[in-house]
Amino acid sequence: MSADGRALVANWQTLQQVFIRPENEAVRATLVKYMEQILFGLHDFLRAHVGITEAESLIKLSERFQDSLIHEHPRRKLADVIQGIIEDLAPFAVNVASPYFIGHMTSAIPFFMVHLQTIVAALNQNLVKLETSKVFSIHERQVLAKLHRRIFKRPGEFYRHHIQRPESTLGSFVEDGTLANLTALWVARNRCFPPEKDFEGIESEGLAAALAAHGAERAVVLVSGMGHYSLRKAGGVLGIGSRNVLAIDTDNHYRMDTTALQNSIRDLSASDSRTRIIAVVGIAGTTETGNIDDLVAIGRICRRHGIHFHVDAAWGGPTLMSERYARRLEGIQNADSVTIDGHKQFYMPMGCGMVYFREPQAMDAVAYHAAYVNRPGSVDLGIKSLVGSRAANSLILGSALDIMGAGGYAVLIDHGIETARAFAHAVRNHPLFELITEPELNIITYRVCPPAYSERLTAAGNRERRQLNRALNRINKVVQRLQREAGRSFVSRTTLLPRGGMETVVLRAVIMNPMTDMHIVNAILEEQAAIYADWEAGTAGLTS
Ligand SMILES: *Cc1c(COP(=O)(O)O)cnc(C)c1O
Repeated sequence: MSADGRALVANWQTLQQVFIRPENEAVRATLVKYMEQILFGLHDFLRAHVGITEAESLIKLSERFQDSLIHEHPRRKLADVIQGIIEDLAPFAVNVASPYFIGHMTSAIPFFMVHLQTIVAALNQNLVKLETSKVFSIHERQVLAKLHRRIFKRPGEFYRHHIQRPESTLGSFVEDGTLANLTALWVARNRCFPPEKDFEGIESEGLAAALAAHGAERAVVLVSGMGHYSLRKAGGVLGIGSRNVLAIDTDNHYRMDTTALQNSIRDLSASDSRTRIIAVVGIAGTTETGNIDDLVAIGRICRRHGIHFHVDAAWGGPTLMSERYARRLEGIQNADSVTIDGHKQFYMPMGCGMVYFREPQAMDAVAYHAAYVNRPGSVDLGIKSLVGSRAANSLILGSALDIMGAGGYAVLIDHGIETARAFAHAVRNHPLFELITEPELNIITYRVCPPAYSERLTAAGNRERRQLNRALNRINKVVQRLQREAGRSFVSRTTLLPRGGMETVVLRAVIMNPMTDMHIVNAILEEQAAIYADWEAGTAGLTS
């Protein structure tokens, strides 16, 4: 029975109602009301009732979802389903839009994103081919060109030539940063083992044949120790093995040590070496600390050795919108390929990764033709894409760029970086905290380090320092967990390994919500201080 008491049945008549255009005013008004409920009801409800999330354990929650049967007849009408989601599910989701939620790369999105997402669903275009998307395939090429131009800064003439040229591909929309990195390394792998003589190329013959044909035994990818684990996944999927995604040492600022990179390349490409280097990956904004590799130096090294240079700018890419901070990504224009996530600092809804290639022919290395879908020479976007059927995410990004302008995004980027800097200042001036990484972008790491500990740390020998560090690691784990469980605010936690140092548990804050200001930052720090004081009082005598 539905809420209004009528039995719900699945038959031809009721089914037609959900496909036929709503003809009368009353039905239309109802549909509009549902949209209002989604747009405002959801946010109002969360604001009124929930901080970050309701305190309820995952075990308890999983007890409620034990039903594996699909019911024969409908159980609820749309209105009841929406109400149910708002009241029964949303409170136990995570209110990522809260300005007190500063632990992850997921945050509030502008309201208009929900409208744009709705248009994408309403039109339901499939960008795999022209016959299911027509103008949206063309429109997507324009969006790709705009971002490509921001990254690679090639002359206007270049874009006039390639923007709508069927044979040129400036980039590709995929699901996320993971698939963008995979696409980039897929292209790099195929270009590293191109067809020659009797060898048709690695894409058709596979890795074993490719290595044999090229007189090699293994293929590797080089990235700093701060590389995102999606790169290791790519190593696995591409058949080179995740262990062959090799970690290059980092310097004191968690940036790739370029001398170490040069040494590695020299060793790996010695004349008797049976190793091929598929790509070197520079990171523009590491996931954990937001630091940026020296892209100029890495690019120069790659060019000298003829190695594919990929930049993982999944996080930091949109910094290119900021006049003030874009130059921190200097050197990105020399990359062969670049990953950017739309659902991170372009503030798009989940599900938008992008990969860009400096050379419009690079993606030829991964072109496929299916007789029933794409014809050679067509502009169908599916022929050079890891993804098949996919939504018109480019419509969302293109529209957002119109609504925000580069300047609008710059305001967000600048706010994040400058608030992170003020955050670092507050940490430095607070007796209870120690700053671990100075923010280069909008990510800061720090830890609880009470005065008693910091004083002993400066004087201590190696063994005692290890002991103190272990105790601090424990304290920081506890403080982070208790704050999360209290549900008012959220800061994440990670473990860093400073150069030549000891594993250090740190608190990690990501400032991307424009509503997160220093008033909120200070409140979060004070909450952590209070949590520590309470815990300390409760355990005094046990730890000292
Ligand atoms: C987030 C991130 C990724 C992975 O992106 P997903 O969209 O989560 O797949 C890759 N690299 C970096 C540097 C990231 O910050």
